[in-house]
Order: sequence, then C-alpha cells, then structure tokens
Amino acid sequence: MSKDDSFKFNLPHSSPVVPTRLELDDKLKFRCHRGVSCWNMCCSRADVTLAPYDIIRLKNALGMDSTEFLKQHTVPFELDSHNVPGLKLRTDDSGACLFMKEEGCSVYADRPTACRYYPSGLLSMKSISESTDERHFLLIKEDHCKGHDEDHIQTIAEYRKEQGVEIYDDLNHEWYQIILKKKSTGPTIGKPSEMSLQLFFMASYDIDRFRRFVLSDAFIKMYDLSDEEYAELETDDIALMKFGFQLMKQVFFGEMTIKEREGAWEKRVEERREILELRKQAEIADHLRKQEEARKAALDDKD
Ligand code: SF4
Ligand code: SF4
Repeated sequence: MSKDDSFKFNLPHSSPVVPTRLELDDKLKFRCHRGVSCWNMCCSRADVTLAPYDIIRLKNALGMDSTEFLKQHTVPFELDSHNVPGLKLRTDDSGACLFMKEEGCSVYADRPTACRYYPSGLLSMKSISESTDERHFLLIKEDHCKGHDEDHIQTIAEYRKEQGVEIYDDLNHEWYQIILKKKSTGPTIGKPSEMSLQLFFMASYDIDRFRRFVLSDAFIKMYDLSDEEYAELETDDIALMKFGFQLMKQVFFGEMTIKEREGAWEKRVEERREILELRKQAEIADHLRKQEEARKAALDDKD
C-alpha cells in the first residue's frame, strides 16, 4: 500500500474474504431485495461498526437518549492499539442484529453506514506528508450473499446515492480524518491520556452527555463561545457533533480552533494548584493524626 495509513471503516471485520478496491466510476453488479434466497443472512451475522452520525440517526429514530441507546444497543471494542474506543451494534447470542425482523431491518430508514454500503465499504487513506485523506471503495464478495447473482449493474457512485450513504460519509468525514491522523502521527502524538479518550468517547458517541458537559458552568468558564453558538449546541445534534470534532482536534493535536477565555487556562492551573495544595495539607493532617494515634496506642500498651 503506497499510503502510510488506511482505515477500512465499514466492512465486516471478521470476514475472511479479501476485498477488491474500487473507484466511484467502477461498476457494481448487485441487488438486494426481499426475494433473494439469502434474505436477512447478512443481518443474522452482523458486525457493524458505528460512527457518530450513525448513532445520532439511530437514537433519534428510536426516541432515545444517547446514553440509553449505547447501553441497550452497542458493545465496545478498540479502534487502535492506543485504546481509542470504538462501538459496534449489539447482537443476540447467535450474532443476529437486534434490529433484524423477519420482514427486514426495523430501522431501515436510519440504518448505519456499514449496512448501507454492504457489500462495498469505504477505504480512507492518508500519508503523513498530506493534509487530507484519499477516498476509495472496497467490494467484498461473500459466498452467502446472492445479491451478486442479480442482473443489476450500477456504478459505485450510483449505489452510494441509492443507499443514501453520501450524507453519512460527509458528516462523518472529519471524524474519520481525526482517526487517520491519530494513526499516522501515532508515535509523535503518543498514547492519549485517559481524559482525552473519555472526551473522544463522549463527543463521538454519547452526544447527549456531551451536550450537558458543553453547557456546564466549568466548560462555559473555559471556552469563549457566543450565546448564539451555545443556543445552537443546546438544540442541534449535528452542530454539537461538529463542535465535538473541533474539540477533539484541540485535545489530541493541539489545533486551537475553539477560543479559550482570556486567562482561563492560567485560572484553571491556579485552581488545580489550590486543589493539589489542599489535598497535600489533608494528607499531612491525616499522616499526623495516624502518628498521634499510634503514639497513644504505644503509651496505652506500656500502662
Ligand atoms: S441495522 Fe438493519 S441493516 Fe444493519 S445489521 Fe441491523 S438489521 Fe441489518
Ligand atoms: S443479498 Fe446480500 S445483502 Fe442482501 S440479504 Fe442477502 S446477504 Fe444480505
């Protein structure tokens, strides 16, 4: 592979089939419909990785808070060797997606990117020397999928349009770039702190919790946003998701795109110093108290 790093985001991870690389103009001979003999077979062995916009669509379609959605419908995994958290759709014990019904997908209008793409997938590639990534596509031909025997041919571009995948790719693109940049600059950026991984999880997946964090007094004291910006973040999931991407870049790569209030950083350092000082004093007091108790106990033993 000529590029330094790549991210095959939405192919079944466990598939043993080697994918073929495609471009937008390449042809795809495939059609999936209720009449195929393999109907629902892919969803009964689901391995669906989720991106931020997938979760917003699903939790809103189900009328759920993101925290509750994550609890009921996802399982965690690690996106890379630095413990960057990823999420997959939860399945039952046999591996079937919980949204699969006999008649098909019960969340079809809001199904995730990976489900829209299948049997193709997105391949993002980026080298350290380039600032943006390249987009290619992959085709995976699994034996059980009889959609490849159907007499329906269209380009990858047409297939993406038909499946409504473009808006998903557009809105998730910045997030893919963050993951790619993190991968390609791994050794220089180093292992992210526990706090930055928690922020990544919250801003990527648990958007309603992230909203409470962004609207908290501590956050408002730190970042210099206008009332209009805060009002938008309060009500608009997409605006909040995009803001989360900016904040991740600030935390992971030091790209200062969100203005901090003047003196906020110094104030935070000072507050932290005061907290550490108070903690130190409490530890000293505790240590002295224990010494005094031990001294008294020794005297009692002598008596
Ligand atoms: S979300 Fe729908 S399309 Fe995707 S695996 Fe589940 S049932 Fe299948
Ligand atoms: S044709 Fe392929 S995508 Fe469609 S139901 Fe069968 S296995 Fe799934």
